[in-house]
Amino acid sequence: MMADMCPDCGDFLTKCLIQQNYAMVLCPNLRCGYPFNQNETSENVVYVEESEVLEVAKQRLSKS
Ligand SMILES: [Zn+2]
Repeated sequence: MMADMCPDCGDFLTKCLIQQNYAMVLCPNLRCGYPFNQNETSENVVYVEESEVLEVAKQRLSKS
């Protein structure tokens, strides 16, 4: 899932946690706006394992 490409612009999709254990798959390209340019965004909400949540949190910390 992490390596999925945006169907609109081809960028690598990223996961943005929207609540505990749930993330929205979205395109990091601000000019693209996927999936908010779609009619249906519910299938972009995915369950995230605890271990992956920690991994994302670590990546965020190392980026800043
Ligand atoms: Zn895109």
